[in-house]
Amino acid sequence: MTHQAADTLSSKAADTLENQLRQEEALLSGHFRLSSGLHSDTYVQCARFLRRPELAGAACAALAAQIQAAGLQAEVVVGPAMGGIVIGYELARQLGVPGIFTERDAEGQMSLRRGFTLAPGERVIIAEDVVTTGKSTLEVARILTEMGAEVLAVASLIDRTGGAVRLPFPSFALLPVVAAVFRPESCPLCVAGVPVVKPGSRPG
Ligand code: ZN
Repeated sequence: MTHQAADTLSSKAADTLENQLRQEEALLSGHFRLSSGLHSDTYVQCARFLRRPELAGAACAALAAQIQAAGLQAEVVVGPAMGGIVIGYELARQLGVPGIFTERDAEGQMSLRRGFTLAPGERVIIAEDVVTTGKSTLEVARILTEMGAEVLAVASLIDRTGGAVRLPFPSFALLPVVAAVFRPESCPLCVAGVPVVKPGSRPG
């Protein structure tokens, strides 16, 4: 496939995904109070999209195609809990490899539990629903690398980094989402008198 054909294909996948995310109310535009206390014009909740297996399957097939086109041959997909579990499992299915997940242990450290193991040199793709700061992806990559695994890439539905995050491995995402985030005291949406909504609850 030529680069141009690949680009056209991936922009088509992005359009489709954005429409479906909005349809499922997994991607909202408006005025939101985030759990951090900050305000934003955008709210993302991938679980609302991933609850639909047929949508999750199609999205992960597009992601798997990008990974395969890049020549990466994963042996296992690791989806950090909670956000990475469903997409990690579905991406694993599309790639034809096992899908496992990391979770916090009693000390709050990300770890592989439930008898999940990685062989030395095992080639891993990390799956996330959204990559925002890259911090949690790096934390997972570090523990997998410490176990001797080779992290090939991170794959996500949504890239919210705005291109500001440099990871030490390739990153695949179906849709870049740029969200404006404001401190409540300097939020232009508050100034404009737009009612603020706490995500997860209905407006009004
Ligand atoms: Zn506001």
